[in-house]
Amino acid sequence: MNVSNFNLTKYRDRIVAIDGPAGSGKSTTARMVAAKLNYSFLDTGAMYRAVTHFALTNSIDPSDGNALALISEKLDIRFETDEEINRVFIGDEEITEQIRTPEVTKTVSEISAHLGVRQAMVVKQQKIGKNGSVVAEGRDTTTVVFPDADVKIFLNASVKQRAQRRLIELAKAGVSTSIEEQIADLERRDEYDSGRKHSPLKKAKDAYVIDTSECTIEEQVERVLTIFKSVFS
Ligand code: C5P
Repeated sequence: MNVSNFNLTKYRDRIVAIDGPAGSGKSTTARMVAAKLNYSFLDTGAMYRAVTHFALTNSIDPSDGNALALISEKLDIRFETDEEINRVFIGDEEITEQIRTPEVTKTVSEISAHLGVRQAMVVKQQKIGKNGSVVAEGRDTTTVVFPDADVKIFLNASVKQRAQRRLIELAKAGVSTSIEEQIADLERRDEYDSGRKHSPLKKAKDAYVIDTSECTIEEQVERVLTIFKSVFS
C-alpha cells in the first residue's frame, strides 16, 4: 500500500500508541511516524528518565516512593521535537543527553515502578495527548495512558537484535560497552518492566504486533503507517 499520498488533514486529532521492550525501535519509529503525520511525538520513557536524572542529581533514594511521587508531580518536563531529535527539558534546563547516561538507564526501572511516580506521569502524558494528533510510545501507552488510542502497536524484536542496536547507538554517543553487557541490561529491564505490580509492560488485546528483528527503521515506519491507514479506511 502506498502511504505517501495520505490525506493528512483527514487524519487529524487521532492517537497512535506504541509499546514494546527497550531497544525494539519504538522511539525512532514513533518520532518518524509523528513527522509523517504531522503529529506531536510523546516519548514517555524520556519522562521517567527525567525524573530519574533529577533524583540522581539531587541524591534522592530510588526506593523512596513518596519523595519521588512529589517530585514527579512538580517537575516541569518539556519537549521540543523535530524530525531529527527529541530535546528534553526540566524547566529551562536541557537534559537531552543527561537522561541517556548508563547511570540513569540502570536506575530508571526501579524509579518508574513506584505507583505515585506513574500516576503523576500519566496525568502529564494524558494532558499532552488530550487534543490528539499524538504518537506516544512507552510501556503502558496502549494499556493505561491511552486505552482508547485509535491505533495501538506492540513492537518487539529478539533480545540479540535489540542489544546490537543499542550497541550501535551507544557507540555513536561515545559510550563503549559490549554485546554481553547490553543483553544483560535489556534482560534485566525487560524483567523489571514486565514483572512490576503497576502498569507492567504487556501487549494490549487490541494491539497490532510488529516484530522488528529483521526490519529497517524505514520498514517499521511503513508498517505502522499501513496499519494506521487500514484502521481508518
Ligand atoms: O523507553 P526507554 O527505554 O527510554 O524507557 C526507560 C524506562 O522507563 C523503561 O525501562 C521503563 O522502566 C520506564 N518506562 C515506563 N513506562 C513507560 C515508558 C518507560 O515504566 N511508559
